[in-house]
Amino acid sequence: MRNPSIAVAVSALALLTPAWAIDFRPSIKDQLKVGKDAAAEIRKKEKVLPDTDIRVRTMRKLGQQIINQIPEAERKQRPFEYTFDVIDSREVNAFALPGGPIFFYTGLLNKMKSLDEFAGVLGHEVTHIRNQHWASQEGDRMKRQLPLAVLLTVLRAGDFAWDLAGLADAVLVGIKYSQKHESEADRVGFDLMTAAGYNPKGMVDTFRMLAGGKKMSDFDRMLSTHPDPSRRADAIEARIKKDGKTYPPLRPLPFAPQPLPKEAPKKPS
Ligand SMILES: [Zn+2]
Repeated sequence: MRNPSIAVAVSALALLTPAWAIDFRPSIKDQLKVGKDAAAEIRKKEKVLPDTDIRVRTMRKLGQQIINQIPEAERKQRPFEYTFDVIDSREVNAFALPGGPIFFYTGLLNKMKSLDEFAGVLGHEVTHIRNQHWASQEGDRMKRQLPLAVLLTVLRAGDFAWDLAGLADAVLVGIKYSQKHESEADRVGFDLMTAAGYNPKGMVDTFRMLAGGKKMSDFDRMLSTHPDPSRRADAIEARIKKDGKTYPPLRPLPFAPQPLPKEAPKKPS
């Protein structure tokens, strides 16, 4: 630290501000950038279904209904740019990238029966983005890796030098959220999908389906990124019982399972 006045300011700040109180998360702008770059890579590498496909149209309609449940003021303050796409692949999974892109695999859609199941997973994925789960993990990682004085200096400079290209690569390898974030995504996803008029039994059905598919290799990634499906189905069922609310009946998907590509894509190493 060559500039003594910065050194003094940093130590003063370090004394006054406890480390846990400082927000080290990548900014909304950075989250949007990382997510967009990663999504562009995915669109290049994977077979993304056209806008006209009924599965894509259904996903976008449901996605918009879910997003409409987020208060307007919050959406203005944190303007995430949600996008919804379907990848034609045997993988039984769905994932959310920072800033807004959400992808579903046809392998997962083929296992679903109701719009309510679809809306449940969408509510879950939207919550990962809305509650900035990736950014929180990145912020925590920075806190663990860098000495506080260094972090404070970068923060003071107002230019947190994220290696955005490197982050996009990390995102592509597979985002894994903590157990805490997964539970939060289930809980808030439940709120979003029920507010949008769907039946939370759909969420239970999805997790029961995943729990039943344990031995099939196509389920591997979903089970590693979304562990303990039985326990999560139980938690949602318990909440439905406790809340004692009535929900609209389950509605069938407007499309039937489609043939999937023969070869499972290579998993990222
Ligand atoms: Zn998740």
